[in-house]
Amino acid sequence: MILQQIFDAINLGIVILDRDLKIKEWNRWMEIHSGTAADAIKDTSILEVFPNLNNPKFIRSCKSVFTFGNFCFFSQKLHQYLFPFKTKSYSDTRFEFMQQSCAMGPLRDENNNIKYLFVYVQDVTEVAIYENKLVEMNMRDGLTGIYNRRFLETILKNEFNRHKRYGGIFSIIMFDIDYFKKVNDTYGHQCGDFILKSISSRTSSLIRNIDYLARYGGEEFCCLLPETGIQPAISVAERFRTAIFEQENNYDGNIIKVTISLGVAEFRDEIESVNMLIKKADEALYKAKKEGRNKVMVME
Ligand code: GH3
Ligand code: MG
Ligand code: MG
Repeated sequence: MILQQIFDAINLGIVILDRDLKIKEWNRWMEIHSGTAADAIKDTSILEVFPNLNNPKFIRSCKSVFTFGNFCFFSQKLHQYLFPFKTKSYSDTRFEFMQQSCAMGPLRDENNNIKYLFVYVQDVTEVAIYENKLVEMNMRDGLTGIYNRRFLETILKNEFNRHKRYGGIFSIIMFDIDYFKKVNDTYGHQCGDFILKSISSRTSSLIRNIDYLARYGGEEFCCLLPETGIQPAISVAERFRTAIFEQENNYDGNIIKVTISLGVAEFRDEIESVNMLIKKADEALYKAKKEGRNKVMVME
């Protein structure tokens, strides 16, 4: 009687299955989240109620509980969930289903024979959302929302190593705002920040979803273009240049126009490191500055 009250009050889902994987019991938590009363599904196979569980991994795990008395764990990271319960209570989530951390183990009778197995289900959606946010924050620049330098460098290293091994092409574009100090000096740092955000969002809108745009330094950006040779990369850089040149930034009623200088570099076999590739793009950017700014350059 007392145990039954705990069974129904606990903030965990508990399901008890027999050897045929028929549901013998589930608690109030399971009733609430599944929308089905325990009496209504009693003696129904769990595989019928949740067809997604009809998979070798789940069935093997159940067998191993009954045969060896093992405990099995289903981590959220690996499986996301066992029971597909829609997430209604979380507004800020990309998870369609409640994220669950689950475990199962044996229940023995008075002769120590395994008669049933239990599954418990813990709702870890909130933790998973929080973890995702932390990962996301670690990847992105706080001001502009585009990727940060650390994340870009990781991606760049992976891309570089992959191409060193298997061949193929990719390019990078480095760009820097022209006379940006003057914007800060004339209109203030807040306005400078506004321009940084505006340039990030304008250039982001011009790339494919497989490209990576990052804030590389204060007012310097780097864009990684996978599977892109030098000519198409120059076209993208030209598109950036024109779009920023034409953009009218309205800050507090002031229309502020800026330009950017860009350097493009392509991965080639003779390039020995990521640093060497960045250096090539940097040199081209420096040349664009020297030759009058608002230009796209490539080093031979
Ligand atoms: P150049 O055409 O040679 O690039 O000239 P520049 O003035 O853009 O270059 P310089 O390197 O002299 O100045 C860069 C400026 O960028 C100085 C710095 O205050 C500003 N800056 C860097 N990070 C930020 C930021 O986060 N916000 C704002 N508002 N300004 C920044
Ligand atoms: Mg600059
Ligand atoms: Mg600079």
